[in-house]
Amino acid sequence: MPIIPHKAIFLIKPILGTILPNMSTSKFNFSIHATENLARTGLITTAHGEIRTPAFMPVGTVGTVKGMLPENVRSTGADIILGNTYHLMLRPSAEIVAKLGGLHKFMNWNRPILTDSGGFQVMSLSKLRKITEEGVVFQSHIDGSSHNLTPERAIEIQHLLGSDITMVLDECTPYPASYEDAAKSMRLSMRWAKRCQDAFVKRDGYGLFGIVQGSEYKDLRIESAHALQEIGFDGYAIGGLAVGEGQELMFNVLDYTTPELPADKPRYLMGVGKPDDIVGAVARGVDMFDCVIPTRSGRFGRAYIDGGGINIKNACHIEDNSPIDAKCSCYTCANYSRAYINHLFKAEEMLGPILLSWHNIHYYQNLMSNIRNAIAEGRFADFINKFFSESS
Ligand SMILES: [Zn+2]
Repeated sequence: MPIIPHKAIFLIKPILGTILPNMSTSKFNFSIHATENLARTGLITTAHGEIRTPAFMPVGTVGTVKGMLPENVRSTGADIILGNTYHLMLRPSAEIVAKLGGLHKFMNWNRPILTDSGGFQVMSLSKLRKITEEGVVFQSHIDGSSHNLTPERAIEIQHLLGSDITMVLDECTPYPASYEDAAKSMRLSMRWAKRCQDAFVKRDGYGLFGIVQGSEYKDLRIESAHALQEIGFDGYAIGGLAVGEGQELMFNVLDYTTPELPADKPRYLMGVGKPDDIVGAVARGVDMFDCVIPTRSGRFGRAYIDGGGINIKNACHIEDNSPIDAKCSCYTCANYSRAYINHLFKAEEMLGPILLSWHNIHYYQNLMSNIRNAIAEGRFADFINKFFSESS
């Protein structure tokens, strides 16, 4: 074993501290505390803390949950947020984020972060993309510059960002797709998944998730679920849904996909969804969700309340001195009236979207907390009945 002089240790320590911030020795782990039928509640342990499941991840696309300070996101009960590889690789770049201490430090969020691999945004946002066996070449939607995203590079970028949960690069199969196209696309994603696992640097507290594809075809979804398990991952995502197929078909895919996934690993339904999508997916064995809905709706004036939502811009709120939801304990509802927020939206003041985003994220986190408690106490079936009777 080489002997390092004391002076050298002093030099090494600050450098490691910069490159690898907030390192933890805790293992990446998923423990299930209670189940009711297919629904589960438990805890994921990561390098940056614990995630209570079922969990909803607010989306921090470019290193910020739009309009929200990190401490305010946390105050809603969020344990984890999602960052976007595609956006961050283009601006400011993964190398710059790494140089500045990683994404947690860069954006002042010291809790778990999951990053998607960029596959979905490459398909939906970039111009002139070309997919080959090697990877995908695309033009930035920001400045037209050309970029090459391979499975290995997607893993490297997420390593540079410091993600607690890294996602494999996959091709998000467009919907609808023919059986032949869906099969070809899914099998390419499975070969990429293997390359991602080979490229992933294993560290305590950091996990890599595979992504099931196969469109609406049962045998392809099952083939994909089995192929991923042969490679072996810390968690399994279900991708290629919430792309316009509708809730019934989405639930149908979950009905035959989640039983094929290992019971002792977290399951993540990507890009979902509305509150009723989440409740229905938890009942089908899903543990994690992400969606832009709470913040996007907030920016457009929609506030979620039990049984549906309201449009705060409507004239009926002009003189309404009551909060958005009298039962809600969020900062917005504790301090502001519908009338005031209606006024802010009319005056196009930025505080309006901020207050509604805050309420909506709180609504989602409160929903997840109620779901977790219901499963833990063995009354999730009653919870579902009550939830859907109020929604109808
Ligand atoms: Zn509220």
